[in-house]
Amino acid sequence: MEKKPARKVYLDFQASTPVDSRVLKAMLPYFSDQYANPHSTEHAFGMEAERAVDSARHEVADLLGCEPKEIIFTSGATESNNLALLGLVHEKSAHVITSEIEHKSILAVMDELKHRSVKVTMLPVSSDGRVDPEAVAKAIRKHTVVSIMAANNEIGVVQPIQEIAEVCAEKEVAFHTDAAQALGKIPFKMTQYGLGSASISSHKLYGPKGIGALYVDHRVMKQLRPLFFGGGQEQGFRPGTVPTPLAVGFGRAAVLAGTEMETDAEKSTALRDQLLNLLLAKIPDLTVNGSMEHRLPGNLNICIPHIEAEDLLNMLPDVALSTGSACASRTQTPSHVLMALGLSYEQANSSVRISIGRTTTPDEITYAAARIVESVVTLRN
Ligand code: PMP
Repeated sequence: MEKKPARKVYLDFQASTPVDSRVLKAMLPYFSDQYANPHSTEHAFGMEAERAVDSARHEVADLLGCEPKEIIFTSGATESNNLALLGLVHEKSAHVITSEIEHKSILAVMDELKHRSVKVTMLPVSSDGRVDPEAVAKAIRKHTVVSIMAANNEIGVVQPIQEIAEVCAEKEVAFHTDAAQALGKIPFKMTQYGLGSASISSHKLYGPKGIGALYVDHRVMKQLRPLFFGGGQEQGFRPGTVPTPLAVGFGRAAVLAGTEMETDAEKSTALRDQLLNLLLAKIPDLTVNGSMEHRLPGNLNICIPHIEAEDLLNMLPDVALSTGSACASRTQTPSHVLMALGLSYEQANSSVRISIGRTTTPDEITYAAARIVESVVTLRN
């Protein structure tokens, strides 16, 4: 029988975060006390639920620095990316620019757009994982939409969003960004960047799974077409009953992200550095994938030569690490993100993602480092 580990350390916060206890507390009354349909505003129960959804919309908008009416609640960033791109790109003559390291919910939409005869330009990234704004400028044509992620889910690399937004503004083309990983981890204001649209997800910032949003600038909204049709909720762009408890949780998580982002970031960065130093002391040939300078706090993606990442993970039932993004981790192919950085097949398959979050403790980092080192030594022998 398999031996049960004495403790478990979760270091996969980029795949998902726990619901913060303060978020859960805010959500609970909306499951069984204030359960009315927030769109049934002909009675007081419905109005109460509507007020809760409204205030959640304000809270999310505040974190983004946009107007509440520019927020469309969706089921998460996957849906938001689909709505943004399929909803904004309707002409066959259209052209979309994206990068090779996007999340699957962008890349799969690009495949669909190609089937619809839309031209897609896939921009490469530098060896440290960044898109060159100049390359974006050069690729822009007359009817282009640009979609570049704000921060990567595997290597945590933060893109030059401000510069790309400036290029897009100058050339007068729409700019969509997948901000699922950036929001709540680094300051991210729509008005500062002048973005056309952005996807966000609640479960990446200590809110519940199953809700996210698409921010759409009110001018760009005029071009947006819905993917589903129904009762006209969310200004007709995303019909269906808004799940009040999830919206309330998302709103509360957004407030907490606003007030705690700086402390969270400082703490995660310190723990990340502590972990890297502990690992480097015993595994000196380890290398970090992606820019250290332009990186989300709490992310490490490391290549440990001469081991298979899958084998390492199998030896660590007590430490949750990942071989890539959650959505790709059951496929045997090497990470498309690491391959885009120029890593070899072997290097990509020797890489693991470690992501630290709000609840991680120094003690957990020491434990995880010791367990990783021990397992690497065993595997190499
Ligand atoms: N984009 C990025 C960059 C992500 O990391 C994720 C989550 N892995 C998504 C989109 C999809 O988000 P959701 O789970 O909310 O659909």
